[in-house]
Amino acid sequence: MAITRPDYLRTGRSPGVTGSSVAVDVPLFDVARSFEAVRDEAIAVFERLLDSGRYILGPELREFEERFAAFCGTAHCVGVSDGTAALQLALSALGVEPEQEVVTVPNTFVATVEAISAARARPRLVDVDPGSRCMDVAALETVLDADTGAVLPVHLYGRLAAMGEITRLCTRAGVPVLEDAAQAHGASLHGRRAGSWGDVAAFSFYPTKNLGAAGDGGAVVSHSAEIASAARSLRHHGSRADDANRHERAGHTARLDNLQAALLSLRLEHLDEQNDQRRAAAHLYRELLADEPVALPRLEGPGERHVYHLFVIEVPQRDRVLSELRRRGIGAAVHYPTPIHLQPAWRSLGYARGDFPVAERLAQQCLSLPMFPGITEHEQVCVADALAVALR
Ligand SMILES: *Cc1c(COP(=O)(O)O)cnc(C)c1O
Repeated sequence: MAITRPDYLRTGRSPGVTGSSVAVDVPLFDVARSFEAVRDEAIAVFERLLDSGRYILGPELREFEERFAAFCGTAHCVGVSDGTAALQLALSALGVEPEQEVVTVPNTFVATVEAISAARARPRLVDVDPGSRCMDVAALETVLDADTGAVLPVHLYGRLAAMGEITRLCTRAGVPVLEDAAQAHGASLHGRRAGSWGDVAAFSFYPTKNLGAAGDGGAVVSHSAEIASAARSLRHHGSRADDANRHERAGHTARLDNLQAALLSLRLEHLDEQNDQRRAAAHLYRELLADEPVALPRLEGPGERHVYHLFVIEVPQRDRVLSELRRRGIGAAVHYPTPIHLQPAWRSLGYARGDFPVAERLAQQCLSLPMFPGITEHEQVCVADALAVALR
């Protein structure tokens, strides 16, 4: 595909007229734009729900749970308050015990590790593969043993971790797998979607995620009725399904409310289409940036379907490039500037700089470019041109 760039973008001259060719500011995400497809229906749903007076644990929640389980290819889904709660409830539902190790990666959003600490288990970190930026399977093999409480791979930026190898190793060791699928709604590997590989998986519906609520939300999905019913009980004070006043264990208040569930059902209808828009935008970035001295996300391998929650490149002198992009109105960002093992909150784990060289290099060089369904070709050209100038 040939990309025509307006002349002024090359010369820096403004054409002064025709709105469409003027360099525009481009946000990192545009959540409101992503909601446009369901705007009118969403308002109708809100009115209906408000009038019904039924806001918690209603039919809208059950309906969304059924739909999202079917979407993921799992038998069960439990809607919860947010992605962090989904991870924490999933760890408890698996029976991970205090002080047991849960193996995960250093280059993730803090919530992954926060949930492990909240479940009173101990995070054990392993480095990532430089190509996929997800859990390094060889590194996992060196720390995994029968005492490990769980393995928690993160499907970073919308690409699945090496789930075939990870589940094979874990099955052999008798250790359960919890997928952190917060960035990977609809991503798949060999036709199996994120959420359907592990014993259990956690999703977030934070507004900027590929499937986002108008507020907070999350879900636990599983093939196992037992794990799902434990999560269902834990999200609602540990109460029993058949007797709400009988509490088998201390739980939480961590339900997904009916309004968010109804909105998510509407948005789920458009998720595949919106993921395709993200994939098309990623394809265009690859063309626009082909000659720049940056590392692009690795191409999809056989059977891989990446859903580009984020489009993350690697650049030397990242901080200088980032501030130049921001100065030019481009909403670039860094996910994530400090790996978990170098965060003050996890100093007690005893890790040091140099322990996870791949994650540390990614933290220094990674740069997220604007990516959201509905981003226009013109906006992407503006991002690419601003980046070309910033790299000079
Ligand atoms: C967003 C996110 C979470 C947490 O989700 P919340 O809904 O914000 O609690 C967990 N893990 C990863 C990788 C995320 O990106």
